Amino acid sequence: MLVATPIGNLGDLSPRAIEAFERSDLVGCEDTRRTGGLLHKLGIKRPMIVVNEHTEFDHESRIVAAVASGQTVVLVSDAGTPAVSDPGARLVQAVVAAGLAVSAVPGPSAVLAALVVSGLPTERFTFEGFLPRKGAQRVRRLAELVGEARTMVFYEAPHRLHKTLTDLADAMGASRPVAVARELTKLHEDVWRGELGDAVEAFPQDRVRGEFVLVVGGQPPPPGEVDDDELTAAVAAEREAGSSTRDAVALVAQRYGVARNRVYRLAT
Ligand code: SAM
Repeated sequence: MLVATPIGNLGDLSPRAIEAFERSDLVGCEDTRRTGGLLHKLGIKRPMIVVNEHTEFDHESRIVAAVASGQTVVLVSDAGTPAVSDPGARLVQAVVAAGLAVSAVPGPSAVLAALVVSGLPTERFTFEGFLPRKGAQRVRRLAELVGEARTMVFYEAPHRLHKTLTDLADAMGASRPVAVARELTKLHEDVWRGELGDAVEAFPQDRVRGEFVLVVGGQPPPPGEVDDDELTAAVAAEREAGSSTRDAVALVAQRYGVARNRVYRLAT
């Protein structure tokens, strides 16, 4: 059973997650001190087994055997949802290949929390996880993503944030919209919204602390592709959903990559 745990706020631990720990026979985790601390807070004691990129292979057969023998095994990561830029996917494949059941206790994950507060289109998006750190792979991935029309979500470590924003701005253009979501669900949660070129200045290399998710707007369609009826309908939908005219115009103009005054004319 894959169980999501908080990404910064203990209040986000769900009742079902607690129940899963209580019912478990064995808990797979990245770090026994961290998960042991969480279990201690809940007053639960269970045997733990480390599942990380080094041990996932070795401990796979032990965990598959435990599930096959009828035991309930809970898998967690240090924070958020296991198998999302965290260990677990390989283990799930092994359990599935053995014909055994896998279930999830869904909950916190930085990808969705960042997407929904970004202010960027959410209808369609891609999760890119961490970009390759350097070299040809990084250059290739960035080149692949330049024409991506969907909103893109990236994870990044604080010490690489400035470099990644710089590389994204170089590849996708300084005016591409971005939201930089920091310390989500924590005391110092903050969302910076603007353009990639300005984000490079706003997050200088040596002064960045915390955990970050980058949400980057997709490539807008070429101008002229969208007709007035579609824009009018999109503004009406945003208003119906509760946006003011001003916000609806801004959102639609950004989504379709058209001038705000064109959308404003249609909206009034
Ligand atoms: N499995 C986790 C999940 O479901 O979100 C992600 C684990 S990944 C190793 C860690 C990355 O997630 C961080 O580098 C950061 O990009 C992002 N992250 C995790 N918690 C965050 C938070 N509270 N605020 C912003 N980003 C966060």
